Amino acid sequence: MQQVAQTVEPRGRIDEIWGERTPFAAGAGWPVRVDSHLTVPEADVEGWVQSACVLCSNGCALDIAVAEGRIVGVRGRAVDRINHGRLGPKGLYGWQANHSPDRLTRPLVRRDGRLDETTWDEALDLVASRTRHVLNDTGPSALGFYTTGQLFLEDYYTLGVIVRGGIGTNHLDGNTRLCTATADFALKETFGSDGQPGSYTDFDVCDTLFLVGHNVAETQTVLWMRMLDRLHGPDRPRLVVVDPRRTVPAREADVHLAIRNGTNLALLNSIQHELIANGWVDEAFVGAYTVGFEKLRQTVIEYPPERAAEICGVAADDIREAARIIGTAKRLVSTCLQGVYQSHQATASACQLNNVNLLRGMIGKPGCAPFQLNGQPTAQNTRETGADGDFAGMRNWQNLDHVRELAQHWNVDPLDIPSWAPPTHAMQIFRLCEEGSIKFLWIVGTNPAVSLPELHRIRAILEQERLFVVVSDAFLSETAQLADVVFPAAIWGEKTGTFTNQDRTVHISDKAVEPPGEAKPDMEILIEYAKRLDLVDNDGAPLIKWSSPEACFDAFKRMTRGRPCDYSGLTYEKLRGGSGIQWPCTPEAPDGTERLYTDHRFNTDTDYTEDYGHDLLTGGSHERKHHAELGPAGRAVLKHAHHTDPYEPIRDEYPFLLVTGRTVYHWHTRTKTGRAPELQAAAPDAWVEIAPGDADALGVAEGDLVRVTSPRGSVEARARVSGIRDGVVFVPFHYGYWDTSDGHEPNGRPRAANELTLTAWDPVSKQPIFKTAAVKVERIGDGDGSAPAPMQTASAPAGSR
Ligand code: SF4
Repeated sequence: MQQVAQTVEPRGRIDEIWGERTPFAAGAGWPVRVDSHLTVPEADVEGWVQSACVLCSNGCALDIAVAEGRIVGVRGRAVDRINHGRLGPKGLYGWQANHSPDRLTRPLVRRDGRLDETTWDEALDLVASRTRHVLNDTGPSALGFYTTGQLFLEDYYTLGVIVRGGIGTNHLDGNTRLCTATADFALKETFGSDGQPGSYTDFDVCDTLFLVGHNVAETQTVLWMRMLDRLHGPDRPRLVVVDPRRTVPAREADVHLAIRNGTNLALLNSIQHELIANGWVDEAFVGAYTVGFEKLRQTVIEYPPERAAEICGVAADDIREAARIIGTAKRLVSTCLQGVYQSHQATASACQLNNVNLLRGMIGKPGCAPFQLNGQPTAQNTRETGADGDFAGMRNWQNLDHVRELAQHWNVDPLDIPSWAPPTHAMQIFRLCEEGSIKFLWIVGTNPAVSLPELHRIRAILEQERLFVVVSDAFLSETAQLADVVFPAAIWGEKTGTFTNQDRTVHISDKAVEPPGEAKPDMEILIEYAKRLDLVDNDGAPLIKWSSPEACFDAFKRMTRGRPCDYSGLTYEKLRGGSGIQWPCTPEAPDGTERLYTDHRFNTDTDYTEDYGHDLLTGGSHERKHHAELGPAGRAVLKHAHHTDPYEPIRDEYPFLLVTGRTVYHWHTRTKTGRAPELQAAAPDAWVEIAPGDADALGVAEGDLVRVTSPRGSVEARARVSGIRDGVVFVPFHYGYWDTSDGHEPNGRPRAANELTLTAWDPVSKQPIFKTAAVKVERIGDGDGSAPAPMQTASAPAGSR
């Protein structure tokens, strides 16, 4: 890594989102630029504590500045491989939420319809006794746990062991189901296991970037800085962007394919059609290291550019040009994210992105990788620890030997670990709560009353008398307001732990300050719960054998030995002082592993694979015998599927396609970023983006109040006439009701995007669909100036950039 090129005091980094350019050529190394934001003079900082940002999946390393027992700022870590010192607006300003005056400081219990403060003993006793009652009365399947992508590895692993090894319910999932379930499944389908094949250093040396449904400039701001510095460098990579909005990357692209939402698969099939038709396939690689080519060929042959152009609503020549750029690349990095993952053929489409790199033989070497990116900062750990629909250590729930290994690590009976059916996905957990078969639901660090689809339904589920709802959170979120018990949680900066970003880089985050009041780390809350339930192992010893994060990490890393996510060579000590380290990190690879599959041997041996695969169209789960018959035996699997139309077609009454998404200034439901003054001021309220032609037809001008209605509900917000595709409207999903007089639901103006979205999911990953819903738009009031939408991002007014 180069030495520090400059130190930036990022005043105005709300406006200068990506900061100054530090261009570089392929292989020259990304220059260091240290970004910081302090609320006191630097001389007043008493100490710097190592950490990383938890406001997206990039995982930018930073040091937390502390003075008088409070966080007073942050500074990017120059030494770290992820960000080389840089931070984006959320990283620079978002930490202020820690000191928000409305942090929860004491447990709450519901009495006579109100949430009252109480003691930890009373709250924990109540939750434990309710758990025991449900266990005795109905059994473990009446208990559900819904967690997040924002805790630390140690919190998740403790949760996973309690739920799968102790309580024995199958109903455990994360809100990672909403953000990265498809990444997880696409990696398993193609390569046999989860785990990003490539490394961020691949962006430094590639000659072509292919971004599909991925507004990286806003969702992983610092990764975009890295790409932008290559794009402004001496040997600019070529750039193809697929997005219905005119995002900042789209403005930089050689080809921008503004496809109709819900048509990713047709486009990616067509690009593969062109790769095959023009002889741009590395036949030796495909023959030696993959299976499934012939079936893939027979599928994509039906997608010549003219047909895809009709389905996707873009020009056939633009598809051809995109395919030519990809087909003639020498070092290709492809990425995808929510535009793919939150669509109806999510896994099928994400697998095609893997195929593109496999057909080109571009994987396992510098500058060549498909990236199935993550949404949340610690989503990778939810998957690795088994705190979602996966089994710990990337084990296969259908493989009895894998279940036995887990039982051995936990010293429990393998039959007590629920493996008789696929782990229950989040949407199904809420369905079981709705039906009444789940009677106890613990929601940890997430806000489904704003983030799940079809909110009127979710609110009704959480409000049921017969469902006992526990919420652990730092704030009285819309969801916490509906709980029976609320535990005040310590958050980032107030506890020690580790987490892993989307290129497998593990960071440590040390405790910098005390949590407010009586708030506790989630791991401690869970251990207290396990003690009260008297959860024990086969020898009668406590099931949870650790009381410190480091001891938990040591137990976790032993459990990962020999699995794809092998942490066995990592220690807290090793993670302190320098850069984050990429797993697998073992005694044999003590410095970590930059790139997977460098020998082109994939994790697809039937005995080793994390998943036996699925039918991409129906979601039907394959069994061991199917996988053995296919016999990939270390080769990657080229999966194939035909395009189908989205579940909810546009029609006369609902003529627009809705897409929901994020802005650079906010994170999820704004529980943190809405409490950081600079971020909240930059994007204070919801808005509706609409194309100029559609706005004209409806008589809508910039800033007018419009109502967007779907068959499930409506949203009212100011209109931003932007560069979005005709026939598509965009609403950001960050805005709920906690900071309005409405509390947890729209008693007044509805503004949560998920009032509109539908209860439906991808058949394989079960990821809910947020990118295709049919809506109508009406003008309901005059404007009084511009919409409260950012001006420089994908939301920029039409024609302004
Ligand atoms: S890019 Fe993501 S991890 Fe990095 S500072 Fe921004 S929000 Fe934080």
